[in-house]
Amino acid sequence: MIIQKPLTKIALILFLIILLPALFFSTYELSSLNENEKVIQSIYTNQLDAILFSVNQYTKDILDSWAAKLNLILVERETNNEEFGKKMNEFLDLNSSVNYILFADSSSNNVMEIFTSRKKELPAINIKDATKFYKENKHLAKRLYAYKKEGYQKYESISDSNFTKYSMILFLMNLKYSKVKSCVIIYDPNVFIKQILTPRLQDVSQEKFRITVFDNKNNRTIFSTERNDSTKIEQKKSFWLLPDYSIGISLKGKTIASLVESRSEFNIILIIALNLILLIGLLFVYRSIRKEIELAQIKSDFVSNVSHELRTPLALISMFAETLELERARSEEKKKEYYKIISQEANRLGKIVNKILNFSKIEAGKIKYHFSEIDLNNFVEDIYNTYSFHLKSNGFQCSFEKGEFNNKTSADREALSEAIINLIDNAVKYSDEVKLITVKTGLENNMVFIEVKDKGIGISKDDQKKIFDKFYRVTSGNIHDTKGTGLGLTLVKHIVNIHKGTITIESTLGKGSSFRIYLPSIS
Ligand code: ADP
Repeated sequence: MIIQKPLTKIALILFLIILLPALFFSTYELSSLNENEKVIQSIYTNQLDAILFSVNQYTKDILDSWAAKLNLILVERETNNEEFGKKMNEFLDLNSSVNYILFADSSSNNVMEIFTSRKKELPAINIKDATKFYKENKHLAKRLYAYKKEGYQKYESISDSNFTKYSMILFLMNLKYSKVKSCVIIYDPNVFIKQILTPRLQDVSQEKFRITVFDNKNNRTIFSTERNDSTKIEQKKSFWLLPDYSIGISLKGKTIASLVESRSEFNIILIIALNLILLIGLLFVYRSIRKEIELAQIKSDFVSNVSHELRTPLALISMFAETLELERARSEEKKKEYYKIISQEANRLGKIVNKILNFSKIEAGKIKYHFSEIDLNNFVEDIYNTYSFHLKSNGFQCSFEKGEFNNKTSADREALSEAIINLIDNAVKYSDEVKLITVKTGLENNMVFIEVKDKGIGISKDDQKKIFDKFYRVTSGNIHDTKGTGLGLTLVKHIVNIHKGTITIESTLGKGSSFRIYLPSIS
């Protein structure tokens, strides 16, 4: 069969139009996975930044509210001086993170008043010391004035070696008629974070994030929304107004990296699975196309085989009939010989036509079977006896080995005998020098069997798988000369299936073949 060329072409086309784009797509997808990872990473980073921003903003809001309250207290002082001290104490009591409040004037940054929280036993700060560090941070106050001119209320964080435990915040007051122009709030950052920021942090973490606050100076964690979670902190940034403290943020339970990794893994698996499915689909398409091409080729072989099979007997019949018609036969003996040839060839023609008709009926599902109980031994023996004369006259040595059993089987007599005759016909056709045929019956595993064995040319392992396919004929060696339709074994197989039996073959190339039909036995 010369089907290799179109098949290679089809394989190439399939590869080019389906597999190649899929390969391109997969490579592109795989290479863009890295890009995707980067995009996802940046999305998360932005989200984390937003949370950080909101926490910082909240801190500023708190300071705004403190500044506003202090402004108000100072304004009220102008009308009611007596209440002033009381109100300042109230403010300090209410905001327990605040330890000291210092008010200073504008011109020389002289500290004018100091208020100390009553709750804790805090050391007193004297005005001289305070003025000193106030002056050291003069440049910050200047900056605040510049901002104020632009219309911004800003805060500056200041540090001093005397107050390492505390945080200090400097801001400008908003008072027209008071001498007090600026204020420093000295507060305990630990208390501030725990009391004021913690509820806010819990809020923004939204069960999705873990937010941790670090004390940078002492290198320790002072707060975490998830105490038992030890995942790596993804983002860490300092608070605007608490420069010695930073806030860290990570996804709860999973790090962004592991999240991105698991997503990439899933994508890779998906791409591989898709490619595999595509490949399997392609193989499937390729195989069905190959089958179709093979079938088309086989069919065309069949047509030429059949024409050849029909032409030979027809030519012989017409030649001898003409000879007889023109009375060219020289003797009575010759005439008899010619009649015999004509009848033999007509018989052969009949067989071929029957085979083809039977096959087309099977294909159309038109054959009706009539099952009856038969004694297999007798049934096969009858067929053998009818045939043995024909075999022997063709130079075959043949024998029938009758099995020792009385089991019966249910069969359509006509169909089963056709199957057996087909096997015997093949044994004759495919015998070469050793002309030996054995027909045998037997019982095995509660199945009866009929065996037809020859010492002919044999069938290769590869061909054994295909010989039951319709139109299939072995084309190697000199078998080409042997006539056939490639339908005989297809019919046999069909008949065996109808009888719920099986057919087996044992064959060695050059040594001979043995076919066995197994049928269910009725004991
Ligand atoms: P056909 O004999 O008309 O070609 P079959 O369907 O009966 O078709 O057989 C299919 C093929 O199986 C044959 O072409 C032949 O090559 C091989 N075959 C069948 N029976 C035998 C046998 N007994 N010995 C060797 N080859 C056989």
